[in-house]
Amino acid sequence: MATKPRYSIVAPIYNEEGNIPKLYDRIKGVMDSTGETWELVTVNDGSRDRSLELLAELSAKDSRIKVVNFARNFGHQLAVTAGLHHTSGDAVVIIDADLQDPPELILEMVERWKAGYQVVYAVRQERKGESWFKLFTAKLFYRMIYRITDVDIPLDTGDFRLMDRRVVDALNSMPEHNRFIRGLTSWIGFKQTGVSYVREAREWGETKYPLKKMVRFAMDAVTGFSYFPLQIMVYVSFVLGVLAVLAVPVIALLRVILGFQFLGGQVTHIVLLLLLSSFQLFFLFVMGQYVARIYDETRGRPLYVVADRIGFEDKEKNTQGKSAAPELEVS
Ligand code: UDP
Ligand code: MG
Repeated sequence: MATKPRYSIVAPIYNEEGNIPKLYDRIKGVMDSTGETWELVTVNDGSRDRSLELLAELSAKDSRIKVVNFARNFGHQLAVTAGLHHTSGDAVVIIDADLQDPPELILEMVERWKAGYQVVYAVRQERKGESWFKLFTAKLFYRMIYRITDVDIPLDTGDFRLMDRRVVDALNSMPEHNRFIRGLTSWIGFKQTGVSYVREAREWGETKYPLKKMVRFAMDAVTGFSYFPLQIMVYVSFVLGVLAVLAVPVIALLRVILGFQFLGGQVTHIVLLLLLSSFQLFFLFVMGQYVARIYDETRGRPLYVVADRIGFEDKEKNTQGKSAAPELEVS
């Protein structure tokens, strides 16, 4: 009976017990209205609440619901990645489980896909129920990423998007660890377009993205797609070098001609020393970020570990979550 569905929906789940019933209802309503076949691939990212139980119940009731259960929490981007690895639809939609991404928008995405676009991303026109801090940092983040990265990542888009099977296969063939999925999708290319929407407040529960995760996410985005932080070092070193060269004659002149005792105090030396060390340490940190990511790649660990799968026919497939399954290689 295993015919492959027309559409696959991927939803990462981390402590979303209060959202799961409604998520299922809304997705079912929307997807059934297409009159075509679909599957919902959920990834339980080490939830500590009843999320897994609820998902397993849904899967037992409705065979279109599948569950990839992680051995622990591996993070949002890896949960989405695992979901993509386990899809088989002709078009795949990534959606958040907290209903901040309205499932109804999928119909509009499908229309664009049928009109010949391979990637349809959702652009947030407005975001409700977020703190001013999140709104401000997100705005800043998307604009900074846009400026300094080498690929054109559309402004104010999250992972909520529809992708053609060819794009998903290309994405699945990318084995990198510190994944910034929206950047990778832009990098792949194909015909892309956006549909805009108003991002609602979370239906239930609270954000799973505290500041620490947001910073890490931002650094993955920057290091994954830009050498800019490495390159600015040369400008700083140039400015400091020029200052140093100019300082010699200037200080000599001031001293000889005016008898001016320049830079006399210890305190000045200490302050300058601290300032320059701080510059240097900062740049060491920047380099460290890139080095750590090289290390992540060279260790070659799997991206995630799956404890079990529910609702899949082929239980052995992709057991270690080691990048993509061989059959997903792009030609
Ligand atoms: N999520 C996940 N693993 C994590 C953090 C989040 O699978 O470690 C899921 C979460 O359940 C949700 C989606 O990723 O479906 C987006 O998370 P969240 O809504 O907390 O992020 P925000 O919308 O606040 O940026
Ligand atoms: Mg959310």
